Amino acid sequence: MKYINKIYLASVFSLGVFHVAFAQQPADEAYFRNQIKILASDEFGGRKPLTGDEDKTINYIADEFKKLGLKPANGDSYFQDVPLINVTTKAKNNQITIKGAKSKVKLTSYKDFIVWSARNSKKVDLKNAQFVFVGFGINAPEYGWDDYKGLDVKGKIVIALLNDPGYYNPSLFRGHNMTYYGRWIYKFEEASRQGAAGVLVIHDTKPASYGWNVVQASWAEHNLELLSDKKNLDQVSFKGWITKDAVTKLLAASGNSYDELFEKAKEKGFKSVSLAANANINLTNDLKVANSHNVAAILPGTDLKDEYVIYTAHWDHFGVGKPINGDSIYNGASDNASGVAALLTIAKKYTEQVQRPRRSILFLSVTAEEAVLLGSQYYVEHPLVPLDKTAADINFDGIAPRGRSYDLIIGSKGDSETDDYVIRAASAQGRTVVTSKEQTSGSYFRSDHFSFAKVGIPVVLASGGFDYVDKEAAKKTSRHYHQPDDEYHDSWDVKGSLDDVYLNYAIGFSIADADKLPQWNANASYKRIK
Ligand SMILES: [Zn+2]
Repeated sequence: MKYINKIYLASVFSLGVFHVAFAQQPADEAYFRNQIKILASDEFGGRKPLTGDEDKTINYIADEFKKLGLKPANGDSYFQDVPLINVTTKAKNNQITIKGAKSKVKLTSYKDFIVWSARNSKKVDLKNAQFVFVGFGINAPEYGWDDYKGLDVKGKIVIALLNDPGYYNPSLFRGHNMTYYGRWIYKFEEASRQGAAGVLVIHDTKPASYGWNVVQASWAEHNLELLSDKKNLDQVSFKGWITKDAVTKLLAASGNSYDELFEKAKEKGFKSVSLAANANINLTNDLKVANSHNVAAILPGTDLKDEYVIYTAHWDHFGVGKPINGDSIYNGASDNASGVAALLTIAKKYTEQVQRPRRSILFLSVTAEEAVLLGSQYYVEHPLVPLDKTAADINFDGIAPRGRSYDLIIGSKGDSETDDYVIRAASAQGRTVVTSKEQTSGSYFRSDHFSFAKVGIPVVLASGGFDYVDKEAAKKTSRHYHQPDDEYHDSWDVKGSLDDVYLNYAIGFSIADADKLPQWNANASYKRIK
């Protein structure tokens, strides 16, 4: 009761600032619940891209946009084609034989390594390709770190450690706040830029924050990638993962010790080691090329209508997969039917408002987030509205039903002026602002807002809290992250989710109404494109 009063009083005082009251309306709750219920139903089959369930999902979202009176954002269409390649790669005899100066080692697919090729070609054939241990595989001028210095890796296979040196030595990089250089995806990108033939990232459970079983489940089959105009031929011919055990054997075969190289790799000025070991790599690619789709709609602004605030929420999930307790549909109610429901509920709030914001609002539901942010990555490479006129991206990924919280987790704290808008909106709800505690695993890089940050657009990531009003209930609402039992229940307490919906509506409205576009802070890793 005390909490409700706090919100009520705060909202009375803030009406002038945000044009909105935060008092929850039953109609909004019913609409929000209904969207989750529909999108997370078995009928939508877990919303896997490139299936019939994709068609059902994107048509549903486009219809909702239309019903709300929003305009199509891509000419007269609500859809943006996103060209994807779906690849399953097999190693010959499921093996790779390492010929080292000291000995020969046979590594087995799935158990020791998992590889795939994003190239639009049926085969990979490498003869006697040499291995190079490149430490963390990082080229970061701003941290004075270059593992590729003086190295020519053309035609070679690089092996890189996961995470960044700050994970082991807090005085390096950003200490325990993992940088993008720590991500496996960065290691793949850098190896491609360096012209390597292949890249293997060493899996170690602690710095990865997940086990080898997760690597197996995520990459052994059906790898979705964007298909570039160059047919991905500018990428390494194969990429993948290798276990720490297998790499220890590989290094021993070349006359090196994993522990010794690992110790050296953590020191500034480390020199990469070309190994006395090579292998023939023979892979066959089973591939399918097809378009998936982003769904996008616009609410035109007034005097600044050529500038935009973007709301994003990915519509995709895993579809039908390995059954757990007899259930094979990965419904993704929290991840991310709830985010799409938040986006739609906010769109509804905007269209109900007589007063339009000054800037236009782009509502963008992206595809293939679960396959590493592909829909949003494609969007920033092929934007529907100019990037330099985009004020901010406000992203939703999992508005978990845990009831109301006294605080608000802000995933982007300290990076840009969007924080000021978040803090103001949160205090109008009587909530304090706290930073996400999960920085070592790089949670910042794990949803679609990051695609926008990468190209210089300030982002907002504000939902949930740590300090719940009903602590017992919040605990009971256990997470069903990436499991078939991430399902909607009428018993869900969505009051907290709805607080976050109103909050992000207010944040977006005030950014869209401000005199200037929000800027990055001087110490941020990103800069606006001029
Ligand atoms: Zn998600």
